[in-house]
Amino acid sequence: MRTVIGLEVHAQLLTKTKLFCSCSAEYFGAPPNTHTCPVCLGMPGALPVLNERAVEYALMAALALHCEIPQRSTFARKNYFYPDLPKGYQISQFDEPLAIRGFVELPTGKRVRIRRVHLEEDAGKLLHTETGVSLVDFNRAGVPLIEIVSEPELSSPKEARLYMEELRRILRYLGVCSGDMEEGSLRCDANISVSPDAQLGTKIEVKNMNSFKAVEAALDYEVRRQRQILERGGSVVQETRLWNEKTGETEPMRAKEESEDYRYFPDPDLVPLQIDDSWKQKIDLPELPAAKRARFAQEYQLPEYDIAVLTEERPIAEYFEAVVKLYQHPKDVSNWMMSELLRLLKEQRSLEIPMKPEHFAQVLQMVRSGQITRTVAKDVIEESFKTGKAPQEIVREKGLGQISDEGLLAEIVTKVLAENPKAVADFRAGKEAALGFLQGQVMKATSGKADPHKVRALLLEKLRH
Ligand code: ADP
Ligand code: MG
Ligand code: ZN
Repeated sequence: MRTVIGLEVHAQLLTKTKLFCSCSAEYFGAPPNTHTCPVCLGMPGALPVLNERAVEYALMAALALHCEIPQRSTFARKNYFYPDLPKGYQISQFDEPLAIRGFVELPTGKRVRIRRVHLEEDAGKLLHTETGVSLVDFNRAGVPLIEIVSEPELSSPKEARLYMEELRRILRYLGVCSGDMEEGSLRCDANISVSPDAQLGTKIEVKNMNSFKAVEAALDYEVRRQRQILERGGSVVQETRLWNEKTGETEPMRAKEESEDYRYFPDPDLVPLQIDDSWKQKIDLPELPAAKRARFAQEYQLPEYDIAVLTEERPIAEYFEAVVKLYQHPKDVSNWMMSELLRLLKEQRSLEIPMKPEHFAQVLQMVRSGQITRTVAKDVIEESFKTGKAPQEIVREKGLGQISDEGLLAEIVTKVLAENPKAVADFRAGKEAALGFLQGQVMKATSGKADPHKVRALLLEKLRH
């Protein structure tokens, strides 16, 4: 059986204002219905004015997805009746979208073709209370979205997830979308079919997944469900289903509507959007994830795993390169960043790195030159990260320099051996592991400052006598 998946992804654009009015688009957490005006509330006679920044962001995304941009695109009214839609229609693009025929290159190298990218406005949000009352909040109504429609050529739930993750990376690199699936800034309708032969099967559309994990899980469930139907000789009926996070199953929502149901027609209030070459040429794209991955592999000879971690977010990748410029040992920088820096960033829940790249490079330099131990380096990184202090200063102030004075170390080693007769006996009886324990005791006694190589040599020397 062959699985085929195509995704329709909605990404909220990070503009200051809405798509057709000057209401603030930064509605998250705001009191209901405070970001509204006659335009986004659909009052009779109110006229939309297109937000130029939203077009620019959509263009950036489309170009980053290698799309063609037709000179002309148009806005259409998609008509349907639902309480979160104040005008009774959504302004979208239909037969003349902003962009067509692009592709996304996955980290695996596979290219997934993009059918179209178009601009549209978001709807409001319904809140269903426990008392059976439904409330509506129009703060989100009119917020700009792009819809990115892939061709049906993803071949597994796992690949669909990789595709979503890559899209998110691209949009975040561009700074046009926060990519937050839990907040709903990035949403996905997944279409999936299973067929016994090369022909495309009947597709099911699945909605309501709010994490990458949920996208994969919902599609996994659908593969199993549809296979079962076909294997029992039945046929899949085209419909839209909802993912239920609690049960881990998809449930029928409605029979699939056709585009004819929406009675699309050109919006008479909006002129066609003209995008000439000069506008396209003005758009500056940053280095995108796929290109960065390829360059990192070439320039720094890093393992694939390191490259994936370091290029996941632009600020991380840029920090890595800034440190490597000052301390030319890429794998070393990568290891320290992945273990220490990323942990600290996760703790502070933001990608703004308060520690200067110079300071990070200095710590690694001090380790390399033997001035401090690796154990101490971890503390120095944390302190410098949290206070902004220079590593040299921290080491000086706290007396964290490595202890390599043999006389002093010998004294400590003797003391540790005297205090741990059992470990000494174990080692002499052939238990090699006891050495590690004793070494750990010496490091503890020196707050991690003892030169580990010298400690080991001294321990062995004394233990063998
Ligand atoms: P509709 O007109 O119902 O919206 P489209 O042909 O426009 O359907 O496709 C919508 C999405 O569904 C696209 O992302 C496309 O890749 C995907 N899709 C279309 N047919 C199939 C199929 N048989 N199996 C899986 N996905 C499909
Ligand atoms: Mg569709
Ligand atoms: Zn408004």
